[in-house]
Amino acid sequence: MNKNEKCNISIRDLLKKVFFVDLIQGLAVTFGYTFTKTITMRYPDEETWVPYSRFRGLHTLNRNKEGRELCVGCELCAKSCPTQCITVVPMEDKTGKGIADRVAARWEINLLRCMFCGLCEDACPTEALRLGRQYELAGKTMQRQLRSKEELLGPQPVPFDFEGGVITRARLERDEDGVVVKADLSSQKRWW
Ligand code: SF4
Ligand code: SF4
Repeated sequence: MNKNEKCNISIRDLLKKVFFVDLIQGLAVTFGYTFTKTITMRYPDEETWVPYSRFRGLHTLNRNKEGRELCVGCELCAKSCPTQCITVVPMEDKTGKGIADRVAARWEINLLRCMFCGLCEDACPTEALRLGRQYELAGKTMQRQLRSKEELLGPQPVPFDFEGGVITRARLERDEDGVVVKADLSSQKRWW
């Protein structure tokens, strides 16, 4: 490189600096994206992702068609849990039918310790326990991360037979414990 070339490069760099060429190029890219179609999801208060049915989210406890709890309080889920985050206290029904009417007096999970491995679901002999598709589990208190049988027996926002893998309209509901995202399953679209 001779002396003239060195001089030319310096002058070009100097001109770029004087006229803010790099800055203008960067801003041009930014403004260009301002007028293109948005491809990101406005999560969670307008759209939400409903996972496939094989997704492992918040646990659900289930009932049979007659409304009886399927959980018989056998404690196999608690014993198979590698993080020991399930507590089951069994109880006999007062019908006198013994083991056939056994239910759980208390069934509780500590979500802070759960790693959603699904071993408890595999261990359950009555298919009472399933990992559902609820994944918005943030809360403001430690207590919120303890979910009881009564909460998990409630109706699930996404039914098991719903295939999932779609984006739906959603609305965000706030309460003193945190937020709940409610999906509208009547409107679905795939994002690819
Ligand atoms: S998903 Fe795994 S870690 Fe969570 S409660 Fe079940 S067995 Fe335990
Ligand atoms: S959820 Fe299933 S494995 Fe756990 S106590 Fe109930 S019946 Fe037994």
